[in-house]
Amino acid sequence: MNRAFNTLLLLFLGLASSAQVFPVETIISNGVDDQRINFVILSDGYTGPQLTTFITDATNISGDVFNKSPFLEYASFFNVYAIKVPSGESGADHPGTASDVSEPAHPVIDVDNYFGSTFDYFNIHRLLVPVNSSAVFSVLANSYAGYDQIIVLTNTPYYGGSGGVFATTSLENSASEIAIHEIGHSFAYLADEYWAGDAYANEKANMTANSNPVTVKWSEWVGQGGINVYAHGNSGNQANWFRPHQNCEMRFLNQQFCAVCKEAFIDRIYDLTDPIDNYSPATGIITYTGSPLNFSLDLVTPVPNTLKTVWLMNGVPFASYTDDITLNGGDIPQGNNTLEVQVIDTTLMSKSYAPASGYVFSLNWTVKNNILPVELFNFVALDRGTYVDLSWSVDHEQDIKNYEVQRSGNGIDFHSLNSLQPKANDGGPADYEMSDIYPLDGKNYYRIKIHESDGSFNFSPIRVINR
Ligand SMILES: [Zn+2]
Ligand SMILES: [Zn+2]
Repeated sequence: MNRAFNTLLLLFLGLASSAQVFPVETIISNGVDDQRINFVILSDGYTGPQLTTFITDATNISGDVFNKSPFLEYASFFNVYAIKVPSGESGADHPGTASDVSEPAHPVIDVDNYFGSTFDYFNIHRLLVPVNSSAVFSVLANSYAGYDQIIVLTNTPYYGGSGGVFATTSLENSASEIAIHEIGHSFAYLADEYWAGDAYANEKANMTANSNPVTVKWSEWVGQGGINVYAHGNSGNQANWFRPHQNCEMRFLNQQFCAVCKEAFIDRIYDLTDPIDNYSPATGIITYTGSPLNFSLDLVTPVPNTLKTVWLMNGVPFASYTDDITLNGGDIPQGNNTLEVQVIDTTLMSKSYAPASGYVFSLNWTVKNNILPVELFNFVALDRGTYVDLSWSVDHEQDIKNYEVQRSGNGIDFHSLNSLQPKANDGGPADYEMSDIYPLDGKNYYRIKIHESDGSFNFSPIRVINR
C-alpha cells in the first residue's frame, strides 16, 4: 500500500532532483508491497564502510518494533526495507544551541551527513531532526517510492529523536524504544502522553480537552487496563488537557502502549491495508453449469488469528470460519444470486472502531444458476397380473444421485423397493422403467423419491394399484 498523496508529492519532488538510486535491502518481508504496509529505514550519518553496521542496526530495531504490541500481533501486515545512503562523515550535527540543557551537553560538531540530521532542533536538545527533508523525499522517489512510513536512523550515540512526517532515532541505548515511540507519532498520529508543551496540545486519539469520562473519546475503555481521564498537570494549560493512561509508551519509554493507543495503531493498519491477500475466482459473474463451484480466500492473519470469515448467499449466512467453500446445485437458488464473503477482525484490542462494523472487508460474486430443477412426468403404474410395471420420464436431469422407488400398503408408511442410477445427468431427458414382481394384495401405493447429489430430495406424485 502507499498513499496517492505521497506518490504525487514524490513525483513532483523527483523532477527537481538527480536520479541517484541507492541500494535497498529487505529487512522483513511478509508479502508483496502492494498488499503490505511498508516501513522504510534510511541511514544518516553512516559513511560508506559503516553501511553494513546500518543494516545490523536497522535489523535490530525492526525486531524490537515488531516485538511490541500491537505490532507484535499485526507483524504479518508489514514489510521493512532499509535504504543504504552513505554520508560523507559519521554522526549528527550538534550546534550546542539548546535552551533546555546546559550546553554543550555533548561536543559541538558540524557533520557532513546526507539528510542534515541535527540535535537542538527548536532549541530542544534531544530533538534530533533530519532537516534536509527534500533529500529524504528525493532518495525515496528514486530508490523506493512505495513506502508508507519513513524512519531515519541516525548514526550518533547520543539520546534523541523526533516524530513528524519521519520517525527519527539515534543509536543511543534506547534507540528501539525511541523509534517505537516516534512511530506512534508518525504512523498512528498519537500525541505524547507526557506534557510536551502548549504547541503540542491538540485533540488526538490519546489527547483531549474533554475531561468527562462518559463522553470522552475513549469512554468505552474507561475502567479497563488503567484507562481513565488523567489531567496532564494541576495548573495552567496542562490542567486543561487529558491523557488516557499513566504509563503508556507515549509517556515513558520501556512501557506498553495503552489500549487507546493500540486501537489507534490498528485503525491505521486497516486504513492502509486489508486482510484479503488473494481470492478466487475473480469477482464478477460466475455461472453454475452442473459442476461444483469452489471459492477460496488467501488471508493475512494477525497472531493470534482474530479474523472471522462469514459466507452469505443473498444476505443469509451459511458458513463461517472457513477460507474455502464449495457450492453445489442445491446451494444455488435459480436465477441470479449474490454470494458475499465478509472477513471481520474481531480483535478485542479495538472498541471504538467497532469490530462488528468497522473491521469488515467483503467481496461479492454474482452466482447464476440457470439449470432448471429435474422435472418428472408420465409416471405410470400398470397391473400386469402377477406383477406391476412402473415407468416415468424426466427432463433437466442434472445432479441426480438416484431415483428411489418406494411402495406403501397404506399410503403413509413407504419402503424402498429399488434404486435406479441416473442415465445421463446432462440436463436433458431420460426414461425409466422397472417392475414390482411381488406386489401386495390389496392396495399398492407407489412413488419415486428423487435424490439430488447435494442431499436434497423430491417426491413424484403417488400412483395406486388395487389388486
Ligand atoms: Zn513523543
Ligand atoms: Zn497511550
